[in-house]
Amino acid sequence: MDKNIAIVLAAGSGSRMGTTRKKQYLLLNDKPMLYYSLHTFEESKYITDIILVVGAGEEDYVREEIVKLYSFQKVREIVHGGKERYHSVHAGIQAISTYITDSTDNCHVWIHDGARPFITEKILERLYGTVKETKACVTAMPVKDTIKIADGDGYISTTPNRNLVWQIQTPQVFAYDLVREAYETLLQKESTLAHRGIAVTDDAMVVETFTNQKVKLVKGDYRNIKITTPEDLQIADIFYKTD
Ligand code: C5P
Repeated sequence: MDKNIAIVLAAGSGSRMGTTRKKQYLLLNDKPMLYYSLHTFEESKYITDIILVVGAGEEDYVREEIVKLYSFQKVREIVHGGKERYHSVHAGIQAISTYITDSTDNCHVWIHDGARPFITEKILERLYGTVKETKACVTAMPVKDTIKIADGDGYISTTPNRNLVWQIQTPQVFAYDLVREAYETLLQKESTLAHRGIAVTDDAMVVETFTNQKVKLVKGDYRNIKITTPEDLQIADIFYKTD
């Protein structure tokens, strides 16, 4: 059976927002930010299940104040995340393994930042069509600015060809067996990576590093921003008002 399981990540500290309430629970247009991506997945014809990853001790709050309040029926598990984003993703993958009992052949995992409220069914449709063919794809957009690679002293080291540079968004979608094995390897090699100063900042990177699988870029949307700092909240407000 075709299973498409969204892991929605909401276990970050949100320290760059500078608010006392964690950003995933800040209100956007009267609803917590986390509501919006859950709503899109709930309504989507592609997504069958949702795993929610929240901060330790926040499980009951999220179950009552978000999942029950807004009647999200596809949420199967609410688990707590870890120190880094990749720990939280791993917790989500482990939660899937506890309730998937049949074959995992047609099972895909859609990893999504709960801090990106503006995903659309159109983006999910493009990802679905691509992952069925490629086993691994991520949402992305061509950059508009020129990007520079800096050296450690704050000087420009190189300038990549802008036509080849993309900014990466989520969802990032993978065949379940592929992403599970990649994350198992990551957890085994975690200390070596940390020792070499390598920060794991997205899921494609885990698949690129630990498997031979190529990852396809799928066009997302410039509105699919990650809400990180206070000005992002102002931008989000404008998006709602102009929708
Ligand atoms: O910190 P960053 O901007 O990379 O966070 C992206 C998403 O990952 C956010 O939705 C955040 O809540 C989540 N996250 C998490 N666990 C962490 C760090 C981030 O679930 N330890």
